[in-house]
Amino acid sequence: MQRKLLIAGNWKMNTTHDEAVALASSLVEKVGTIEELDIAVCPPFPYLFAVGEVIKNSNIALGAQDVFYEDNGAYTGEVSAAMLKDANCKFVICGHSERRHIIGESDELINRKLLKSIAEGLFPILCVGELLTERQAGETMEVVSQQVTRGLEGVSAAVMKSVTIAYEPVWAIGTGVNATPDQAEQVQAMIRQLIGQIYDSTIAKQIRILYGGSVKPSNASELLACPDIDGALVGGASLKADDFCEIINRGLEVSRE
Ligand code: PEP
Repeated sequence: MQRKLLIAGNWKMNTTHDEAVALASSLVEKVGTIEELDIAVCPPFPYLFAVGEVIKNSNIALGAQDVFYEDNGAYTGEVSAAMLKDANCKFVICGHSERRHIIGESDELINRKLLKSIAEGLFPILCVGELLTERQAGETMEVVSQQVTRGLEGVSAAVMKSVTIAYEPVWAIGTGVNATPDQAEQVQAMIRQLIGQIYDSTIAKQIRILYGGSVKPSNASELLACPDIDGALVGGASLKADDFCEIINRGLEVSRE
């Protein structure tokens, strides 16, 4: 099955308003009409509306970096899924490793966020990935399977098509050291097999599994060519329009092969 690649940029806590608008404008100009693959950008919350305005007539979708699971109320600092819909977000990242390991988010919390996102009609990107110590201890498959299984608790087969999974080994995020295509493919294939066990083989074939962790123009082609890598979640390189566009162009080449 040919799955449409998704290249998503996670801007993290970067850019000013003007930089965010300039970056988005540059992307619209360079890759805004591409239809062969899906493109998304996830700016910081305060710039969602401004970036949304810039990309609104392009094929670039808007995503958020996080969400809360309640509808509204006394949750200081949190942002609801309905608010993200209101800001025209399509995607939302759930369980990014920086939220797991810096903020301390648990699988249970991430699962609640994911369920709420789906209920509101958003497309969550569930991030999973092992720490370096876990890889060195031979625990990668166990850690990642647990994160996938717990993250998807209560997600029915009927709505599973709205979920994207991103395998992001923590040791590869922001370090410049990417997983090799073999290392990534091994884990991504395991995730797809697990989805087949939890749901069925049709869903396993449909679901997009992205790779994230130091994706850049120089390694994008070999990573995106792996059979179980259906796109990339890009951090650092998504802040430079030229680099992000080059990754998108590598994705285009792969999807045309
Ligand atoms: C990320 O933030 O999801 C990420 C993969 O970052 P980087 O590309 O900078 O490693």
